[in-house]
Amino acid sequence: MNSTIEKHIALISVHGDPAIEIGKEEAGGQNVYVRHVGEALAQQGWQVDMFTRKVSAEQQTIVQHSQNCRTIRLKAGSVEFVPRDNLFNYLPEFVENFLKFQTEEGILYHLIHTNYWLSSWVGMQLKKIQGSKQVHTYHSLGAVKYNTIKNIPLIASQRLAVEKEVLETAETIVATSPQEKQHMRSLVSTKGNIEIIPCGTDIRCFGSIDREAARLKLGIEQEAKVVLYVGRFDPRKGIETLVRAINESKLRGDHNLQLIIGGGSTPGNSDGLERDRIERIIQELGMDNLTTLPGRLSHEILPTYYAAADVCVVPSHYEPFGLVAIEAMASGTPVVASDVGGLQFTVVPEVTGLLALPEDVAAFATAIDRILENPQWRDELGKAGRNRVETKFSWDGVATQLGELYTKLLEQPVKQPALITR
Ligand code: UDP
Repeated sequence: MNSTIEKHIALISVHGDPAIEIGKEEAGGQNVYVRHVGEALAQQGWQVDMFTRKVSAEQQTIVQHSQNCRTIRLKAGSVEFVPRDNLFNYLPEFVENFLKFQTEEGILYHLIHTNYWLSSWVGMQLKKIQGSKQVHTYHSLGAVKYNTIKNIPLIASQRLAVEKEVLETAETIVATSPQEKQHMRSLVSTKGNIEIIPCGTDIRCFGSIDREAARLKLGIEQEAKVVLYVGRFDPRKGIETLVRAINESKLRGDHNLQLIIGGGSTPGNSDGLERDRIERIIQELGMDNLTTLPGRLSHEILPTYYAAADVCVVPSHYEPFGLVAIEAMASGTPVVASDVGGLQFTVVPEVTGLLALPEDVAAFATAIDRILENPQWRDELGKAGRNRVETKFSWDGVATQLGELYTKLLEQPVKQPALITR
């Protein structure tokens, strides 16, 4: 590493606060990614400031996570939760407050890593204003998302234009899977630089407990056949497909069959409404007695749930990466996932789990049954999954790759003179 470059970087995640509880509405993979990447980079000698939007007056403005890693909450619009589709008009204020923070602290960030399209707009302004270099991770692509939902939001055209501009102007776009890169090329633009650096997971935390001990801890019978879902309540997560698949399972009449649906929600918000809808389906199918919804699973208890399960199901309609799949694999639990996006990269069919077409209830039922009916094969799949995550998807490895990318970019001369020099 070149010691002359300034190793002070900004990660921007306007709507995904890296310091917040994970598993609540709008808090999911992006928050986990930014927080872990930030902390791992700090461990590797970078000074990392993570910027997000302040959503409540009670929140601390600056949260110090470790010596070289902190979250900074900037004001942008009224200090309250605003769904991400309504945030765009507040972004100029976010940029203004970012610049103010830099001046107050006497910092100029030469490299900014933005997350999700809203933050990419912020990064593009900072590039124009002060020549900052930009790395961007999409987390979700509008061009893919709008193909899979019925109600296209008003912000769609704005989002698609911003996503195209950032691909063509950022120094580097980080695709988290080869599938995501392919979608960028086929649906967004053929111009721009893309590097594939996957998401990661905490391989020390997941896999630290075995199935028997995990079941004892959670009060689950050792003979139970446990199917687990972990994630947000969002129709595009495909929880309905999973519930209907369990209803069609060959083991449906077996009293050992158990379905656990873990994830947080707030009554009345969009995730609360989806949870209500899922609970209605469970009732209609007479599945109350075999289904539990324990709510948000904290970081402390999550490894125990993954370890207790026979199979973890990720039935998303689309997933650019899908952290849950690698968390389950790191825990030695096979995964049945939709045959889409990043799940095609993380889950190796017949080796670490199985893939089924999204929304295909019968295919999910068959795949889940194959694993539940064969405990020896389940263990083999689980072992191979753990192995795959250890070699490919640890946060430390991901941070090393990102650090190398940042160093390369920071060593390159700035192509255009900055409009404002400080
Ligand atoms: N998560 C959690 N507790 C929950 C539900 C989800 O900690 O109750 C975490 C989960 O472990 C994962 C993240 O939220 O790290 C979800 O990421 P993923 O990429 O699977 O989906 P996204 O939320 O980005 O759509």
